[in-house]
Amino acid sequence: MKIAIIGAGLSGLACASECEKLNVLPDIFERGDTIGWPWPTVTLELGLLSRNIGNPIQYIRENFNLSVKPHNQLKTIIMKSPNNEIKIEGDLGYSFVRGKGVAAIDQQLHNVLNRTVVHVNRPASLTEMAKKYDYVVVATGKDTEAAELGLWEDHGQISVIGGLAIGSFDPQLSTIYFNTDYAGTGYARVTPYSTTMATVELYVIGQGPFELEKRFSKFLRTEGLENLEFMFKNMPPVFQTGKVKRFKEGNILLVGRAAGLTDRLLGVGGLSAIMSGVYAARSIIQGLDYEELVKPLQDHVENMSAFRNIMENFTNDDYDKLLTLLGAPGIKQLVYNTKLNFSDLFGYIIKKLYGEQPPLNLTERREGY
Ligand SMILES: Cc1cc2nc3c(=O)[nH]c(=O)nc-3n(C[C@H](O)[C@H](O)[C@H](O)COP(=O)(O)OP(=O)(O)OC[C@H]3O[C@@H](n4cnc5c(N)ncnc54)[C@H](O)[C@@H]3O)c2cc1C
Repeated sequence: MKIAIIGAGLSGLACASECEKLNVLPDIFERGDTIGWPWPTVTLELGLLSRNIGNPIQYIRENFNLSVKPHNQLKTIIMKSPNNEIKIEGDLGYSFVRGKGVAAIDQQLHNVLNRTVVHVNRPASLTEMAKKYDYVVVATGKDTEAAELGLWEDHGQISVIGGLAIGSFDPQLSTIYFNTDYAGTGYARVTPYSTTMATVELYVIGQGPFELEKRFSKFLRTEGLENLEFMFKNMPPVFQTGKVKRFKEGNILLVGRAAGLTDRLLGVGGLSAIMSGVYAARSIIQGLDYEELVKPLQDHVENMSAFRNIMENFTNDDYDKLLTLLGAPGIKQLVYNTKLNFSDLFGYIIKKLYGEQPPLNLTERREGY
């Protein structure tokens, strides 16, 4: 059986590793000259967002026989809105390094491969691969291929600007900022790499990459971070979010961000990328139904994205209220320490914010999603 994987990011590498375990060696093509993102960053895997599966590291180890080492465990999150601030403590999730260094999760997944060679500097075209191979796994992190197949429903862009700053940080504490003055209804975050370095990033969601540098400067000024010294700043390519109508078309399977498995709430999708990559390999080699395997991941993304529909109408006052709600003792317990699934949690928060009857425009937006 001949399998081509286009893209050696998280989803492509996880797929290749599962293929190997099932005794099929795929051909994996990467357009970059090495493995790993060219813009080094520290990413987050928040327990809150993967609550339906419990501890994500343990989950992928037990279910996928895949061991990944986080960079740090996250013990404290501070959330700030213009006139409010809450602090949450506990086992809140993990941070991972992305990029080309040895500790990066991309490299960790690459190191798991024993016999599969990643062909770097090899941009691959879907049409060409679909003719040559029995199966093609699209792991490009882009909407292009799903759009080409007529399967992509667009849900807007996420633009990121940020960099690596030098300062004094607690490696287990991440700060998340909400303020429409610079983030629109996106957010900014400081995610430490070490006691002296942190990734400082602004995520602008749904508004296009307009005035990103101006917004980033405003964020730094507003939050008193203007004196941070940056080792480098970068602006990764804008990414599309969306939903695919199907995950498989003939001999082509879509995984990770190419399958729309990054949510529009925070722009998170690392775990779904890894899981969908493994599922694609299992489906191809073991004859399992890919749509059935991957649908729960899409449902999870959709549930989180539904929250975004509400946030699109948020003012700074709404963010202040949301933080008061998320910081209230009883709710803190419910939100961070239970296994209540995300859509139930979503319903609960909306009810608390708006009472039994959410404003009409919110209902319309949810139905129209
Ligand atoms: C700045 C930033 C921060 C993020 N932070 C988080 C976070 O904190 N937590 C989280 O869970 N998610 C985060 N995300 C979302 C992240 O994109 C996903 O978590 C994850 O990277 C998706 O994996 P993927 O394999 O689908 O795509 P990617 O990891 O992007 O990999 C795609 C690969 O395909 C290659 N490629 C593309 N086209 C071709 C082609 N034609 N031929 C050959 N190779 C090709 C690319 O070079 C790349 O290596 C972030 C995204 C960005 C941009």
